[in-house]
Order: sequence, then C-alpha cells, then structure tokens
Amino acid sequence: MNQRRVSKAIQIGSVTVGGNSPIVVQSMTKTDTRDVMSTIDQIKELEDYSCELVRVAVPDVESAQAIHAIKKSISIPLIADIHFDYRLALMALEAGADGLRLNPGNIGEPEKVQTIALAAKERNVPIRIGVNAGSLPKPTKSGLTIAQQMVEAALKQIRLLESLDFDLIKVSLKAFDVPTTIEAYQDIAQKIPYSLHIGITEAGPPRTGIIRSTVGISTLLYLGIGDTIRVSLTAHPREEVIAGYEILKSLNLRQHGPILVSCPSCGRAEVDIVRLAGEVEEQLSKVNKPIKVAVMGCVVNGPGEAKDADIGIACGKGKAVLFKKGKKIGVIKEKDFVEVLMREVEKL
Ligand code: SF4
Repeated sequence: MNQRRVSKAIQIGSVTVGGNSPIVVQSMTKTDTRDVMSTIDQIKELEDYSCELVRVAVPDVESAQAIHAIKKSISIPLIADIHFDYRLALMALEAGADGLRLNPGNIGEPEKVQTIALAAKERNVPIRIGVNAGSLPKPTKSGLTIAQQMVEAALKQIRLLESLDFDLIKVSLKAFDVPTTIEAYQDIAQKIPYSLHIGITEAGPPRTGIIRSTVGISTLLYLGIGDTIRVSLTAHPREEVIAGYEILKSLNLRQHGPILVSCPSCGRAEVDIVRLAGEVEEQLSKVNKPIKVAVMGCVVNGPGEAKDADIGIACGKGKAVLFKKGKKIGVIKEKDFVEVLMREVEKL
C-alpha cells in the first residue's frame, strides 16, 4: 500500500481534512433542505452512525436560509452544495455553512467564483471544487479524455481561487466510470497540494453501488490518494456512512466499531451460520468498540479464526467453543450462542 499523499490540511468547522488527520467519512442528506425538521432528523441519525461531515443540497433561496436553523440543532459541520447560482453560495455562507461545494461546470463567469471566494475567505470557509464527469465545462482543446477534461476543469477553478490568494481548497473529480475516476485523481494528485474528496458518482443502489464505490475508493486509498470519502448510494445516507467506514476498516486506515469475521458456511457446518452471523451483525451494529468478533461454522478453520479474534465461537453440532483473546473459555449451547457472545462483547 502506498504511503498517503501529503495534502494541505483544511478545517471544515471542527473537522480537519487532509494533512495527517484521519480520512474523514461524509455523507449527504436526501431530504428537502427547506424541510428543516426532516433534514435535522436525518443529520442526527447520521451523527449516530458517526458521520463526520454532512452536505446538504442548496437549490434555492429557502434552502440556503434553512441552513441557519439546521446548524443550530446539529453537531457535525455542514457543507452547502451549490450549483448554477453563485448568490446561493453567498447566502449559505451568511447562514453559517462550514464549507461550500461548487461545480465549476455550472457556476459560470469567473467573477462569480471570485465573489464567492472573497466571502468564503472572510469567514475562513473552505471550498470544494467538485468536478463531475456528467457536467463538464467545454474543454479547451479536442482529443482530451474525460479524465483529462475533469482535471482541466478543476485546475482552471483552482488557479482562479489561487489568484485571489484563496487556498482553503478541496477537490473532487467524480465519474461513474471507475477507471476514469482513478485516472483523474492520479493525475491531479501530482499537480496540486490540496486535499482530495474521493468517491464514485451515481454509483447506484446498495448491492451494486457499494461494490462500484468500494472498487474505486479503495483503489485510490491503496494508492495513497484521498482525505475524505463519500460513498454515493441510492439509499438512506446511513448506508453510505456504514459503507465508508467498512472501506476504511478493510484497509486498516481507521478503526471504527466491531469487525465481524464469519465463515461463508458450507456442507460441513452443523448450525445455520448465515442466520447466526446475521443476528450477530445486527446486535453488533449497536456496539461502538473496535473489536474483532468471529462466528465460524465448524472445526476446520473455526478455532483458528475464532482464536484470532477478541471474542469468537467455532460451532459444532448443537454447541460451540467460545474463545476470548485466543483462549478457549467455555462451551456454549446453540440456543445461547448470540446471548453469550454479546455478553462477552459487553465485557470487553
Ligand atoms: S469454517 Fe467450516 S463451515 Fe465454515 S466455511 Fe469453513 S469449512 Fe465450512
């Protein structure tokens, strides 16, 4: 795994993105931002899942103004997502947004971006240049690949901000196509010092979207690229946060909550491992400790994996051996598997 690229850290409210800080997990609300109560409820739920930054869509004046009330009831920093109308960015700043996301493909004249940058600078609010392959500005020359066009669009905006002495910059270059996204990020990572927000755009519903996002995001992280991640899913945003942490945990980049090791089950299993692992996963979703729990179906790999975990069971016919930190601590009956396992988890 490559060493993480060193980026210039920025501060979004209380959260540091880039530099040596942990890779930040973020999401976006799916409520109508004007519906303040629903938006607050969704953000509070995201906070319960340890989401660290939240973005809200700001398509109109009322949404921009709603930020003021939303901010009063939430604890994590809020980023306003702006398209087309630069005045909405100014209003969002006025309402207390901790960060802005602008799409260089649709904000228009440089003067408008400049106006936003000056207002953001006054408040020390970072701006993400969020390039999307689906809404690229016209390229300056023909023959550029989509990835190259994305980099070109981002660089143009970055240079504009830099010319105003504005460097609270974060950049994203998202496409649905994974190789295009990777190519674009690899290219820009060498050209700018700023932090990178990574993700695969419009990745789809969870079953396919998590895989597509994971392939793209993990490849980049493995290459040392990425300071904050968003898994875009056609699903409740809590699924995005859960998936984000699972990606980071899989690469040992962050510890967050339990890791469940469970065997896939096979003809040797004498208990219903699929059901059992599902029940344990459900129970563990309420636990917030960075522990490793193993649920194994038989004695072939079972004891080995279960021993490697903080707590684990290796099942046999009607009973299982219980392991804790590598030591066998007892034998439990099938009807007690989940209860005993969770009791031991509590004790850890
Ligand atoms: S641990 Fe046992 S039951 Fe589970 S997949 Fe391996 S051999 Fe099959």
